[in-house]
Amino acid sequence: MKAAKKTKKLIKTIRVDVDKCNGCRACEVICSAFHATPKYSSNNPERSRIRVIHEPLRDIFVPVYAGEYTAAECAGRDKYTIDGKEYDECAFCRAACPSRDLFKEPDSGLPLKCDMCESEPPLEEPMCVKWCLNDALIYEVREEEVEEGEPQAELQIGVESLVDRFGLQKLQDTIARMAVKPPKKA
Ligand code: SF4
Ligand code: SF4
Repeated sequence: MKAAKKTKKLIKTIRVDVDKCNGCRACEVICSAFHATPKYSSNNPERSRIRVIHEPLRDIFVPVYAGEYTAAECAGRDKYTIDGKEYDECAFCRAACPSRDLFKEPDSGLPLKCDMCESEPPLEEPMCVKWCLNDALIYEVREEEVEEGEPQAELQIGVESLVDRFGLQKLQDTIARMAVKPPKKA
């Protein structure tokens, strides 16, 4: 079998120090504003790629980043017990999945995923890290050798989510419409 090609990759992570989070939700506000179109034109935490999980009577706040989209919900359920307190099933899961509305764009229902605020020119650090005045979010970058991924993988995930939401036929019709070039103006 052919060995997978290795390549160097910058791994960006955000370390979450739950003990420092006071639930101010500045991270949710700035993430949704940064990703608004046009940028900063609105803010709505439901469009944020980070959500701060908290439940009344339970006194910790846990920032959770939007991860991968999944078309099917898990067959089982995770339960977390922290400092003797039990949290709801799926409470800290990062996936946009059919079992709940978290990490879905509220108008279109399309999945949201943290993109580390990729932009041109690149930011020194992600917006949520910059706006977290309590240093609960710590940005770290390291270089790692990884197996070369399939370049189309992300595109495929996006297309799959559109097919799940709108159906293959509707998606095909839309792409066909978009592929037809408008007539040139005289
Ligand atoms: S900005 Fe920082 S302290 Fe405020 S909710 Fe987000 S992670 Fe917690
Ligand atoms: S890194 Fe950027 S995209 Fe990800 S949650 Fe923070 S502000 Fe949002």
